[in-house]
Amino acid sequence: MSTNPRDPLPSERPSRATLEDGSASESVFDSSGAIRVMKPRRAAPHDAVRPTRAEINLGALRHNAMEVKRAANGAKVWAVLKADGYGHGAPAVARTLERAGVDGFCVALLEEGIELREAGISAPILVMGGYYGRAYDEVLHRKLIPVVYDQAHLEGFAQAVRSGKFGNQAAVHLKVDTGMSRLGVRCTDVSAFGASFANYPELRVSGLMTHLACADAESLESLSEQMLRFDEATTALGRVGVRAPMRHAANSAALLRNEACLDMVRPGLAIFGVSPVSRLAAPTGKGATAVRLAQVMRVRSEVISLRDIDAGEAVGYGSLFRPVRKSRIATIAMGYADGLSRSLSNNGSILVRGKRASIVGAISMDMTMIDVTDLPGVELRDEAVVLGSQDGPLGRDVITVDELAERAGTIVWEVLTHISRRVPRFYREP
Ligand SMILES: *Cc1c(COP(=O)(O)O)cnc(C)c1O
Repeated sequence: MSTNPRDPLPSERPSRATLEDGSASESVFDSSGAIRVMKPRRAAPHDAVRPTRAEINLGALRHNAMEVKRAANGAKVWAVLKADGYGHGAPAVARTLERAGVDGFCVALLEEGIELREAGISAPILVMGGYYGRAYDEVLHRKLIPVVYDQAHLEGFAQAVRSGKFGNQAAVHLKVDTGMSRLGVRCTDVSAFGASFANYPELRVSGLMTHLACADAESLESLSEQMLRFDEATTALGRVGVRAPMRHAANSAALLRNEACLDMVRPGLAIFGVSPVSRLAAPTGKGATAVRLAQVMRVRSEVISLRDIDAGEAVGYGSLFRPVRKSRIATIAMGYADGLSRSLSNNGSILVRGKRASIVGAISMDMTMIDVTDLPGVELRDEAVVLGSQDGPLGRDVITVDELAERAGTIVWEVLTHISRRVPRFYREP
């Protein structure tokens, strides 16, 4: 199948519900004229020649959505799909979750919100990053809900409403900084900021939010302190006439511990089947709900070359590995440019025939070598699993996101979002 390199015109809609996409370029127009926002195109399955791919299990995604809804215990669930749905492909993930009854979505960027609308998503979408450039019109035109914490936001959206093109009021969520020192109105400024809404009858505060810095920490002290400040800010805002029907604070960690759930929760990681609190020996918190999550992404490649080398021969850049015995080395078609962290050099494992083989030498940009000396029967084109489970003639094993993060010295969020756009996503119904 050939692909059309032409950018779609703004009036064009992506063809209906092909499961893989997220690949089209999108356009944004702001009030001053035409500004085009081009999104880089991700490798699509039909142009993938290399056997490296990320498989996205839509059944697991639906399962996690159900578990998260159960844990939310009546609070609305707005799934966080920033950074291309944590690397899973936001459009296909959003369509699946919308059908599974998730109440809304959160993204970081306006561009990400537009991508979901273009994918046919009609549920509420909250744009959390707070950067709108001059594209206030575009936010309202796409029926996105902006997060506001700055006078310039109020002015920008009020003005857009005054244009008359988007009804007579716009819903916004107000963000309060209760301890992240990142975004949001400082607690000391919250009364004054709240009072200024009196100047903007065009704006309706439909949500109050804050973000937690330490929801995955052993101790809940920081979380409790932030929630206390959030309550105080809510009271202060009420006194100046700002009363939101919906308050939200919980990310995955808070939700899984049954803390800070309020009226709505914003889980990202948990939706993709990874728990941010699994490394805690005994997560404290009210958390009585035992939630079972299923990892959604599996990343696989193949053995593309095989050789037998003598003891002492060098493997890879910098000759960082020299075996002490005669060894069989397999080359896998995935490297650090695909998102396999270079910190896994001489450190991680890859599954072949259902068993672990050690990564040997430095990981290259496009390839990785593994030692398969102890795995009988390895052949060219054998599947090599970098993330997820494998059943093979020699056994069954799994490489979790947690394992990769720990070995690479990073966090699980980074492992998922680093799987690069060179790796095509394939959507699977189990
Ligand atoms: C990313 C993000 C979340 C989701 O966090 P997870 O730990 O992935 O559940 C929630 N709220 C905000 C503001 C975020 O930026």
